[in-house]
Amino acid sequence: MRILIASPEAVPYIKTGGLADVAGALSKEYRKMNEKVCLVLPLYKKIRDSQIRLADTGISMNIPVGDRVIKGRILKNHQTAYFIECDEFFDRPELYGTAEGDYSDNASRFAFFSKSILEMCRSLTFKPDIIHCNDWQTGLVPLYLRTLYRDDAFFKKTAALLTIHNLGFQGLFPASHMRVTNLGREFFTPEGIEFYGKVNFLKAGMIAADVLSTVSETYSREILLPESGFGLDGVLKKREHDLYGIVNGIDYEEWDPAKDKLLPANYHFKDLSGKALCKRKLLRMLFKTAPKSREERVPLIGMVTRLSEQKGLDLVMQAVPEILSFGVKLVILGKGDERFQKSLRELSGKYKDNISVTIGFDEMLAHRIYAGSDYFLMPSKYEPCGLGQLIALRYGTIPIARRTGGLADTIEDFEPLTRRGTGFLFADYTASGMLDALKRAFCVYTDTEKMQSMIRNGMQTDFSWKRSAQRYLELYKTALQKRTV
Ligand code: ADP
Repeated sequence: MRILIASPEAVPYIKTGGLADVAGALSKEYRKMNEKVCLVLPLYKKIRDSQIRLADTGISMNIPVGDRVIKGRILKNHQTAYFIECDEFFDRPELYGTAEGDYSDNASRFAFFSKSILEMCRSLTFKPDIIHCNDWQTGLVPLYLRTLYRDDAFFKKTAALLTIHNLGFQGLFPASHMRVTNLGREFFTPEGIEFYGKVNFLKAGMIAADVLSTVSETYSREILLPESGFGLDGVLKKREHDLYGIVNGIDYEEWDPAKDKLLPANYHFKDLSGKALCKRKLLRMLFKTAPKSREERVPLIGMVTRLSEQKGLDLVMQAVPEILSFGVKLVILGKGDERFQKSLRELSGKYKDNISVTIGFDEMLAHRIYAGSDYFLMPSKYEPCGLGQLIALRYGTIPIARRTGGLADTIEDFEPLTRRGTGFLFADYTASGMLDALKRAFCVYTDTEKMQSMIRNGMQTDFSWKRSAQRYLELYKTALQKRTV
């Protein structure tokens, strides 16, 4: 099958969140399976400034965006990833916006990108069987296939899948931005891509893709409900039979505690001594603890997260004094909303012996927190899939998480009698709900046997991409069948 993965980010090129892990890992998995796959991304400044070697294909394209025609060039890395260069849109410090807000021309930027994807296929004479679109930034692609490119024989057999990684991000723009899509006003209706007076790019993909998917079974059901459908539950309900849930995996080569080069020591589920060393080094680095001090024996809770309301930061802020009253240490690495950054800085100043806060995006520290912590906290308000808990499980770090979306699907609540389970779950989105789960978790901390069996259960659960990639391939076939009927 010829597969094109269209995504606004993908590892190893550029990453701001889990979507990048998914797009990158999936294409890598397909290559192992000998599928013909390529990725297409915007050529952001960060990619250009990186070590990645880019070759010029010599192909440029003229893309209409509203009443302008904008030039894009195609660059590539090996035969597997293509980059759309357009300095006017992508030669900027960030991907989507700065701390002050989103870039004001995001509608133009991603309408351009979406159209470039289709024009690129024609220019390269790469006729995909499936275009696997990801999130609102590529949401217009399925609708373009059905409208502007409907009569184009080149795409006659091309089907589209839209994967929704997070319904909270929809690509919403003022009505005046409809112009840059080059779609007629007839699409600015509730049945089309209008959404409470605005233009909604994600909705474009939701109404036009042959099949839809999201990143866990539970989340695929949750988004059909008004309380978690972000206003799009009605649209999704109409497409319920075309909506699937496929849980994300993680890249087992990148995330492998036995081989991870970013760790001070490696370990395996049969010998966890390296994990203890990782904890010691992490404590020493962040809290300047003395070697072999009593402090090394207290439970260490890690968080690696976007600092946004979705991730349950409100609960953490409320509960910090009580969490610390259990005699634990907390390590937080995150970047995001200024209000959380500010409160976290204050907290770390106030409790500097017990809370370490690093504001920023730091790959190495993330690996070290996953490895060196005893517990990994993810009290998300909602969580489409979540990768943090999967990585934590792989690194023998016990997740404490809210029972929602992918967290509910990938963590098994611990049952002390049977010793089954891999983590601790709580249902109510309240500080007391979270504290109850933390208490249950700390109860087993000194019970070495229980802790070890939980750690081993988690480390041995398979969250590699293999199974999920297989399921996506099946879904592509379903999309192709729907396309031809
Ligand atoms: P999201 O909703 O942000 O996509 P996920 O749990 O699905 O959340 O994926 C987040 C990914 O980004 C994980 O691989 C996590 O380790 C990584 N990550 C998040 N914040 C940071 C950070 N500040 N520094 C390094 N890695 C981070």
